[in-house]
Amino acid sequence: MPAGVPWLLERTPGGELAALLERPAWMADALCQEPRYRRVSFIPTRGDDVPAAKRICARCLVRQECYTFGVATRSVGIWGGESLPLGRPARRTPKTPT
Ligand code: SF4
Repeated sequence: MPAGVPWLLERTPGGELAALLERPAWMADALCQEPRYRRVSFIPTRGDDVPAAKRICARCLVRQECYTFGVATRSVGIWGGESLPLGRPARRTPKTPT
């Protein structure tokens, strides 16, 4: 990512290109970009603290804009306090041996 581009765009398909073309104005107010939250993963993998990320979103002023952007761009990760993509099929539960 080019310097100064919000890491938020790393969650967006083609995010680097989008960042070069236009940075949505609301991203300037993204709470997750504050240095104190840089260690919180918004693209959670196994073992990451998802509730911690969502608690940050709950206090963010641009939560609605973020969610709308995440859905519109088919992004992955946590956007506006929701895990995207929505409607992902539930993970299969392994069959219990009988
Ligand atoms: S709602 Fe959450 S993911 Fe979106 S900008 Fe705010 S803190 Fe970041």
